[in-house]
Formats: sequence, C-alpha cells, structure tokens
Amino acid sequence: MIKKTLKRGAALFLAGAIDGSLGVLLVFAFSKIFHHPVSFWIYLAGIILALIPDIDLFIQKIFEKRCDGNHRKYLHYPLFIFPLFFFLSFFSLFWAYLVCLCLITHFIHDSGGNEENRWGIKWLWPFSDNYYQFFGKKRRKFSVILEWTPREIEKRVSENWDSWLSKNYLKFPAESFVGILLGIFALIIVFWRGG
Ligand SMILES: [Zn+2]
Repeated sequence: MIKKTLKRGAALFLAGAIDGSLGVLLVFAFSKIFHHPVSFWIYLAGIILALIPDIDLFIQKIFEKRCDGNHRKYLHYPLFIFPLFFFLSFFSLFWAYLVCLCLITHFIHDSGGNEENRWGIKWLWPFSDNYYQFFGKKRRKFSVILEWTPREIEKRVSENWDSWLSKNYLKFPAESFVGILLGIFALIIVFWRGG
C-alpha cells in the first residue's frame, strides 16, 4: 500500500513537472513585465494554476467512478479563457495574464506532440465536442492538427490510471526528463534572477 502510494506520488510529480515549472517561469516573467512583487505564495499560485485543469481527474472519479487518462473533458475548455481574462483584467492585469497564460500553457502541453498520452483537448467546446491535437499522427498519418471524436478517445484511453501514469511517466520517457530539467531551470532562474 505504502509502495503504491509512493509510486503514485512520484508519477504525479513527474506528470506535473512540466506544467508546474512553466507556472513558476510565467510568475517570474510577469512579475518582471508588470513590476509586481513576488513571494513564495505567488510562485506556488503559479504552479497550482498551471496544474489546476487536471483536478478534473477527481471530477471523473466522482461522476464516472474511474480515474484514467480520459479526464480532459471537465475543466479543459480553452474558449472560457476569453471571458475569464476579461473579468480578471478589471482587478489586476498581472493576475489576468498569469492565470490565463498558465491555463493556456497547460492546454498546449496537453495537445502537442505524438506521445501515447497526447490526444488533445476540446479546443472548440461548446461549439464542438471533438478533441484537437497538434503535430501528431492518426492512422500513421502525420498532421499539424488532428481531430478525435469522444468515441475514438474512449477506445484509445482504456487503461486504469496507475498503469497509465506508470507507463507515461515512471518509465522515464523524454517527457519526464524534460519536466525535471525544466524544473531545475525554473529554480535557477528564480534564485539567481529573482531579486
Ligand atoms: Zn491536463
């Protein structure tokens, strides 16, 4: 049980490493652009914002009684960023840009590439229920933008999430290495250039 929990924790850490690191870098960049003071808590907010769409894993658990890769259908809706930006910009441009860019980088990360755990998100929802992936292959044919129906995704993502996490992150594919390197890079930037 403890081993399983530790394994799950390590896999989740690696799965979130790229998004979390980009969140830190975005806080750094926008604090410089807007001359906004930063603190540990704002960096933590950047990490949480960059990861927040994935809490739909828990929504999937509640509504579908399962947790697997096919959870990107509850909080992964990019078109909602426009009204969100509009609303937040009344209060603070720093937070409006930070929140929206953290979410956009998460959505782009979920959509780009050809790894097995990439099938995109519902970029056009509520106008289309299909998933859109960038720079990937479908039936061995490469395309800049691929379209998947929910039914195709359901067929593709059928494993339970422990084996999905383990295969995609714990066996150290390139993505896990990129996540760790990006995390180290973000820490170096924050500690050396943050002042
Ligand atoms: Zn996601």
